[in-house]
Amino acid sequence: MEFTQALVRIPSTNDPARGRNERPAAELVEAKMREWGWDPVVYEAAPGRPNVVAVVEGGGGDGPTLMFEGHTDVVTEGDLSTWTVDPFGGEIRDGRLWGRGSADMKSGLAATLYATRALQLAGPFPGRIKVCALADEEGLMIGAHHFVAEGLTADVDGAIVAEPEAGEICAVAKGALRLRVDLTGKMAHGAMPQHGRNPIQAVGALLVALASLQAELQERHPAHEHLGEVYVTPTVLRAGSEEQVNVIPAVASVFVDVRTIPGAEHKDIADRVTALAAFEGISAEVSVLVDRPPVDVPVSDPVVAALAAAHRAVTGEEPVYGGVPGSTDGTVLTHWGGIPSVVYGPGGKWIAHQSDEFVEVAEIVRCARVFAEAARRFLSGDF
Ligand SMILES: [Zn+2]
Repeated sequence: MEFTQALVRIPSTNDPARGRNERPAAELVEAKMREWGWDPVVYEAAPGRPNVVAVVEGGGGDGPTLMFEGHTDVVTEGDLSTWTVDPFGGEIRDGRLWGRGSADMKSGLAATLYATRALQLAGPFPGRIKVCALADEEGLMIGAHHFVAEGLTADVDGAIVAEPEAGEICAVAKGALRLRVDLTGKMAHGAMPQHGRNPIQAVGALLVALASLQAELQERHPAHEHLGEVYVTPTVLRAGSEEQVNVIPAVASVFVDVRTIPGAEHKDIADRVTALAAFEGISAEVSVLVDRPPVDVPVSDPVVAALAAAHRAVTGEEPVYGGVPGSTDGTVLTHWGGIPSVVYGPGGKWIAHQSDEFVEVAEIVRCARVFAEAARRFLSGDF
């Protein structure tokens, strides 16, 4: 538990202004790997933002490659007055480890390391385990994208992503499509609107149309049992200036956060939004800011089946299947890396990113046991 506490004590937010990044957390992971005689390779996904990757050979003959994935970054602690504990204190109290990143996901990351070490100490096993601590999951996922671009998924047969999912096995994840719509009309004096073309009125019509698009998509793609509905949510509006209430602005922008389920094609949705943004006398430009498709790995996939069998064996309970409400590095690994991924890890689903984040210590230990058993089963085909 000391290792997990030490990880939580490192404020590994991506915050260059405060001199913070993932490097110290990555170095701690690297040092632990070396202490165990592993030979980690450090890749700079960006300056100061390393990916640490160690391949642990089982020495038990040919077999597949399992990837364990965790991320070293955490989101900001935010307003300190909303915390009753030190967000970077790594304190254990009432059977819980408290602090930013305790659940999301330094405990999960630590569990993947200790699970791999336990399996290694238990004797030879077939195949190998690739233990990965990546940067920037909470941002643009540059760590996972860099990992894929380096070709490091090529030999991987399945990945377990250690995000906090409250013990649920999540082989599906929602997709995220973020769009920016810029509507350009013609600037004019508020007293003479007949000389301008007001993009703000077009924004009003677009917002109504987006609500209809959501209803249409929800009708066409019925709610997913683990992921729920498709949502089309306008989140940011930008137009005009408070100091210039007598000016019709030339440009108005709408930012839209679309959350999708398997079957809903992002390209089609972006095309629909482009069509809806076409107004007489206004030119529209739609930019895709983020495009992370939904993940839909079948529960029969070996990596999911091995994890479910391990959960059953270790906990004595039937596995509960769930879905990831956002996207994770698993989205990148599956969509761009072409490998099946499943998300499972210690900590509550909803505690991530909140004040007074915590994880039950017993849950970390239990999860590490499930990881070790899942790896054994996946690599030896026992599931
Ligand atoms: Zn996370």
